[in-house]
Amino acid sequence: MANLGIPRNTIEVLQRHNFTFQKKYGQNFLVDPNVLERVMDAAGVSGEDCVLEIGPGIGTMTQLLAERAGKVVAVEIDRNLIPILEETLAPYSNVTVINEDILKLDVEETIRVRGEGRPVKVVANLPYYITTPIIMSLLEGGAPLESITVMVQKEVAERMQAGPGTKDYGALSLAVQYYSRPEVVANVPPNCFIPRPNVGSAVIRLTRYGTPPVQAADPGKLFTVIRASFNQRRKTLANSLGNAPGLLASRERVAGILEEMGLPAMIRGEALTLEQFAELSDRL
Ligand code: SAM
Repeated sequence: MANLGIPRNTIEVLQRHNFTFQKKYGQNFLVDPNVLERVMDAAGVSGEDCVLEIGPGIGTMTQLLAERAGKVVAVEIDRNLIPILEETLAPYSNVTVINEDILKLDVEETIRVRGEGRPVKVVANLPYYITTPIIMSLLEGGAPLESITVMVQKEVAERMQAGPGTKDYGALSLAVQYYSRPEVVANVPPNCFIPRPNVGSAVIRLTRYGTPPVQAADPGKLFTVIRASFNQRRKTLANSLGNAPGLLASRERVAGILEEMGLPAMIRGEALTLEQFAELSDRL
């Protein structure tokens, strides 16, 4: 089977199938063998694993995953790619392609049925228009995922890794860091894709924690507090959280708790660590 991860072979497959790119699906196919190798190294897939791939495209990464994993489940929304995948993945008996929208699929159930109890790793070159909802639903959903190794827009990778007091720090940073240890493993320029995206990309690996690094009595409430704190970034915490929907706390009550925690009255959400958010949530 010809290596799909180079421009000539990807173009040949696309032309032979008269494929037209659908902008609405965020289709930028990876055509760089070195980057593909970096993704495989970072994902650390072994013969015991089940891999969930989101958006296999023409199957470039899927082939490499099928050679390494016990099982690959690839979820692709674009039905025009299904006949191509049937061809490019024909040599691999351990791959199941599901023609579905990943945001509508019951990932937990799919993995339970298809994964046959194997450890599960997510590996993907994600469609950028829905990166955040995909990552959030994977982290918050009940599926037992060991790690998530994904290509994302460079700025999104930076937001996932950001710490307090930086401009990139926000609800996504806190959610990612509550559930996992993020690590950017490669920066990837636009010329590694067909067609070229308008933005730089990065490969990030999220290694899921067995237990979160902070203990919040009610994680659901913790995330309600975090989202409300960053809803209007320029507001002080007392103003953002006072009377926020779902919290039932007055501005005065929030101000009192901040004082008890030894924090300045005018502090903004962007200055609080994950530990401080957990304490604030418990006190609220
Ligand atoms: N994995 C391929 C590669 O690296 O060359 C393609 C990556 S491309 C950036 C994103 C892929 O996700 C496309 O194949 C696109 O059709 C698919 N996709 C977009 N939205 C999706 C969704 N909601 N559910 C599943 N797949 C989706």
